[in-house]
Amino acid sequence: MSLWKTDAAKRRAVRNVKGPEEIPKSRSNRKDKRRWCRGKPGIPHKPECVDYNAAKNRLSGDYAYNRDARLLVCTECGKELDRYCPFSYTVLERDGTRREVPPKPPPSWVVK
Ligand SMILES: [Zn+2]
Repeated sequence: MSLWKTDAAKRRAVRNVKGPEEIPKSRSNRKDKRRWCRGKPGIPHKPECVDYNAAKNRLSGDYAYNRDARLLVCTECGKELDRYCPFSYTVLERDGTRREVPPKPPPSWVVK
């Protein structure tokens, strides 16, 4: 082995760098759809506030379920980015009393 080759081997050992053939392939080829629209880096989602029932194709009107609920959906790829369900609910305290928890205030993206 020539001198420069042993030097290179030493340096590699010190840095603990794997050879090019040992570099593991990316375990995931899945696109990052959570962050980027259609998984394309740099392209943000185009969120729009929509009625829950309209988005979910549910009953509307008096029989509607989640009538006041809203979804934040991307108009480009259809991804549901957030949801808002303005429901109050009752919690049972340790002493046996029931306490009603009022619905949360709507987030800023709720416009309808
Ligand atoms: Zn999108």
